[in-house]
Amino acid sequence: MKTRIVVVTGGASGIGRGVAEAFLAAGERVVIADVDARAAHDVARELGAEHVELDISDPASVDAAVSLVARAFGPIDVLVNNAGLAGGGGPLTDLDVAVFDRCVRVNFRGTFLMTRTVGAHMVAAGTRGAIVTISSIGARQPTPGLGHYEATKAAVDALTRSAALELAPHGIRVNAVAPGPVRTPMTAGFAADPAARAAWESRIPLGRIADVADVAPAVLFLASAGHITGVSLPVDGGQLLT
Ligand code: NAD
Repeated sequence: MKTRIVVVTGGASGIGRGVAEAFLAAGERVVIADVDARAAHDVARELGAEHVELDISDPASVDAAVSLVARAFGPIDVLVNNAGLAGGGGPLTDLDVAVFDRCVRVNFRGTFLMTRTVGAHMVAAGTRGAIVTISSIGARQPTPGLGHYEATKAAVDALTRSAALELAPHGIRVNAVAPGPVRTPMTAGFAADPAARAAWESRIPLGRIADVADVAPAVLFLASAGHITGVSLPVDGGQLLT
């Protein structure tokens, strides 16, 4: 099989970095696309990947980065919409509107912009590609204090279904992976707090918070699973069963 060009947004840290490593280990060519240009450069150099600076929430930045990648490396075969953030937390009745806006801007608008531009690029290039978005089980199971974040993940699940339907005639598949809590820089705060960590673990039937290595194989699977489209696959140690 030909080496695929895989773009991983937010690939300079956490889940994105682990996904980039897994695609590289599978022999694919990976472009780490991140708003943190220095980290993207350093991680790409360390892993043997390519890198590009982009802000997924800015249409001009997205268009420029996608054109640059296509010119430099050829048509994009796989997009991993991984970049995202919570940006803070708190009860909805008390949430800072700036935290809400930033979260919506990056997670929802950013995932839309990437899907829009790369989807159009794949159609124009005739690439029967795959898009995999990192959602969250929070889209389906609420945790107090994360309502703003979880709503953006419900939104990307809806985008995944719509894009899957619209892009199916072009042979392009669109899916999501929905992790429960994963040990990354994003969750370092609560993972280091024994009480907070125990509270999370008590909700997970398999009894532990996931590592990045638990999530990456699901992304690789959906990037290659030729007859699956429009799903959001939980990787949650069974948490949605509770
Ligand atoms: P992380 O904070 O470790 O990494 C996020 C990366 O995204 C960083 O490199 C950051 O620079 C980049 N980024 C942020 N805003 C960006 C933008 N506007 N444009 C481009 N890049 C941007 O986070 P993580 O824990 O690895 O999370 C990755 C994804 O997984 C997110 O979408 C997150 O919502 C989702 N997720 C995480 C968990 C978890 O417990 N860690 C659980 C479920 C889902």
